[in-house]
Amino acid sequence: MAKQKIAIIGAGLSGLVAAICLEENGFSPTIYESDDRIGGRVRSDMYEGIALDCGFQVLLTAYPMARKYLDYDLLNLRKFLPGALLFNKRKRSKIGDPLRTSSFLIPTLFSNVGSLGDKWKIFRLSATLKKKSLHEVFASPEKTTLQFLTDYGFSKRIIANFFIPFFSGIFLEEHLSTSSRMFQFVFKMFAEGDAAIPTNGMQEIPKQLLHKLRTTTIQFAQKAIKVDDKTIYFENGSTLTADFILIATDPSQLLIDLAPTPVQWHSTQNLYFKSTMPVVIGEAIIGLLSDPDTLANNIHYKTVKGSLNEILSVTVVKEHRLSEAELVANVQTELSRHCGLNGLEFVRCYDIKRALPNLPSVAIDSRIVKYSDTIFLAGDHLANGSINTAMRSGELAANAILNEIQKRS
Ligand SMILES: Cc1cc2nc3c(=O)[nH]c(=O)nc-3n(C[C@H](O)[C@H](O)[C@H](O)COP(=O)(O)OP(=O)(O)OC[C@H]3O[C@@H](n4cnc5c(N)ncnc54)[C@H](O)[C@@H]3O)c2cc1C
Repeated sequence: MAKQKIAIIGAGLSGLVAAICLEENGFSPTIYESDDRIGGRVRSDMYEGIALDCGFQVLLTAYPMARKYLDYDLLNLRKFLPGALLFNKRKRSKIGDPLRTSSFLIPTLFSNVGSLGDKWKIFRLSATLKKKSLHEVFASPEKTTLQFLTDYGFSKRIIANFFIPFFSGIFLEEHLSTSSRMFQFVFKMFAEGDAAIPTNGMQEIPKQLLHKLRTTTIQFAQKAIKVDDKTIYFENGSTLTADFILIATDPSQLLIDLAPTPVQWHSTQNLYFKSTMPVVIGEAIIGLLSDPDTLANNIHYKTVKGSLNEILSVTVVKEHRLSEAELVANVQTELSRHCGLNGLEFVRCYDIKRALPNLPSVAIDSRIVKYSDTIFLAGDHLANGSINTAMRSGELAANAILNEIQKRS
């Protein structure tokens, strides 16, 4: 059975986890990756010894799949405080979970981000979601996140000041039109664990998965252009035949009959600056720009060592037509006006067109795993855009292939 030839298209988190599961069952798959490195959308570049993630994203340590497949100690996680620092026209206020970080109690109580009732409702929502299972969360009725927050009784003030900037930065869309299931899932994960980034960047996550692989082969610069039954056709003209093919990426360009229904995506831009003045956030906390007119949505320092050369990450979510130079100038003005941050030296900008799948409805697990007896699917676009789901989809696809092999033997 172990002689079965299994080809995986894509070395993102879903493809890597699928390979781990297949190896655990005695198989030696080959991964074909179009890029020259692993990790897919979880990637980082080094700049003067500091890891710049290609798009701001965090690992939520409560993710069940991350707990299963990752060793958090080895990732050397830098954890964010469970709250946010809001900036608006040089005024700042803090809101956070006082049950986890007691220093949040006074600022949260007195912050004018929302009413006392709003803060009580955040506490109540957190307690309710902690009691619900993920299956219950994903079985709940779906509406937009904005509708959910309104129906829950949150005031317009807290929605505008906190929920919109905070969750725009997570959903990568500014209207909170993302499913309320996704909101509850993410809120629950935030309530039950930490938001963290490995000190050496998010790419440490796929790297750690890669280190678990022993017999898997990875071939880089192999872009698949079509998959048909047992054959993969590559851009360079070569073809490959396998007993099973797992497509661990958006398959709509590869499977002819899926072409009319490509996945829609949310995009984002992540700008990095070197700060030549003392930091305006002296701790590991996410800063939000709550003015609805700013392009800059959230900021954080990559390190807070106290030097003047700290690297600042800025996420832009809103759509715009500015050139990169215009965007940089605009963001610099906003950071000066709202956060009092001047003297920012532009380092680089990541423009990520396909960041998160824009799904009208989300699910806990892949909605489709087996496409045919030989073709299987994985990837976050099959259920919901998260690291947890990407990993889970890889596991589900590997299990489906194993079941198929079992059935045939
Ligand atoms: C900016 C940004 C912010 C995010 N924020 C968060 C967050 O805070 N928390 C969270 O949990 N998740 C977040 N995510 C989502 C998370 O990164 C993804 O859910 C996860 O990485 C998806 O993994 P995947 O394996 O499904 O897909 P991908 O990472 O897209 O992997 C697919 C792989 O297939 C390769 N490939 C594609 N087409 C072909 C082809 N034709 N032939 C060969 N190879 C191919 C690609 O190069 C890639 O390596 C964020 C993502 C981005 C980009």
